[in-house]
Amino acid sequence: MKTNQADVLVVGKGLIGSAAAKHLSATGKKVIITGPDEPDDYEHAAIFSSHYDQARVQRLIGKDEAWTRLNVESANAYSFIEKESGIRFHTPVGCLYVNPHQRDEYLQHAPALATQYKTSPVYFDKTENLRTAFPDFQFPQEANGMFEPGPSGYINPRLLLKPQLHLFRENRGMESSQTIHSLSEDNGVYTAVADDGTLFHASSVVLAPGSFANFFPLSPRKPAMQAKSEVVLLARLSEDEIERLKNLPSLLYEINTPELDGIYLLPPVEYPDGETYLKLGCNMPEDIYFNTLEEVQDWFRHGDSEALAGKIRQALYTLMPALEADSFITKRCIISRTEHGRPYIGSMDGKGLWLFPNF
Ligand SMILES: Cc1cc2nc3c(=O)[nH]c(=O)nc-3n(C[C@H](O)[C@H](O)[C@H](O)COP(=O)(O)OP(=O)(O)OC[C@H]3O[C@@H](n4cnc5c(N)ncnc54)[C@H](O)[C@@H]3O)c2cc1C
Repeated sequence: MKTNQADVLVVGKGLIGSAAAKHLSATGKKVIITGPDEPDDYEHAAIFSSHYDQARVQRLIGKDEAWTRLNVESANAYSFIEKESGIRFHTPVGCLYVNPHQRDEYLQHAPALATQYKTSPVYFDKTENLRTAFPDFQFPQEANGMFEPGPSGYINPRLLLKPQLHLFRENRGMESSQTIHSLSEDNGVYTAVADDGTLFHASSVVLAPGSFANFFPLSPRKPAMQAKSEVVLLARLSEDEIERLKNLPSLLYEINTPELDGIYLLPPVEYPDGETYLKLGCNMPEDIYFNTLEEVQDWFRHGDSEALAGKIRQALYTLMPALEADSFITKRCIISRTEHGRPYIGSMDGKGLWLFPNF
């Protein structure tokens, strides 16, 4: 049986795990990160992730002070990571936040956070001004909004993983692709058992399995979080549409209707198939709240995301009536939410087991 020894074992090779591993390896500790890479074929994959995509919205002002600090510190690190690695993953096209119904709590708190964190958003309390500044979107009469210029915009999560792991390897970090199936502690030493029986021994463990935190016996207590399905719609664009929409910012649209809520929209982005797509995602009443890993696997392999395509397409055309898309596809995703709406960052056992899942 293969055995690996480390000071710190990081479980989960996603956005959080790769960042944590890079920082830990810079301290001179022996660090191992383990987790499966993106599968080519979902049919034969056992676990998935939230980052298998080309774009994630980046904003600065968050729901509260904690989120704002995390957003600002992340964005501040991007240029350094890009320079060190030579890999570009950040596109600072700006981020527009709009509430179509009212000037909500987020917009009311934004000016104080902007002052505290020295950011310079532009506020829109008149729909006419919003429409003039962003003519590609159609907002209703009561809409209020805020535009944050770069470094807000979007990042490519697949690409961000590469420099993080590249810098980790430069610090002599070790990488494995095993999935951890169980974790135990005895006398200050943690033992993790991988899917092929490989053992990892470490004096500290960082858990960063994202939405999968509750699907393996990795911690003495379960974090209070729920994992749910999400469907995104990709609208394939012609060269003319790509050119017409090339200055579009990322959009967070706080719509709340019985059909859907919380739209996020990404400007035209190139995907691995060589095509360029505009992406829209949202929450829907049909989203599935997962209780078991088997339910997640079933969703990724055979979930009927196409059944929701019509509703999402309608929302997209309501928002962008002039859009001309050549075709549409849907993608099946997983996200998670903690009970308090903030990320968990802390010790799980008062000793060496640390949790860093997503929100
Ligand atoms: C459709 C969609 C749109 C989103 N849009 C945005 C956005 O616009 N802006 C934004 O900021 N965020 C967005 N998010 C959320 C963002 O993608 C996540 O917050 C982020 O990916 C979380 O990173 P993570 O490292 O915690 O989890 P992940 O990126 O999911 O990584 C966790 C990794 O751990 C691995 N793993 C799980 N269990 C184990 C195990 N037992 N052993 C070993 N490895 C394991 C998984 O395979 C995975 O690779 C979106 C998410 C989705 C799904």
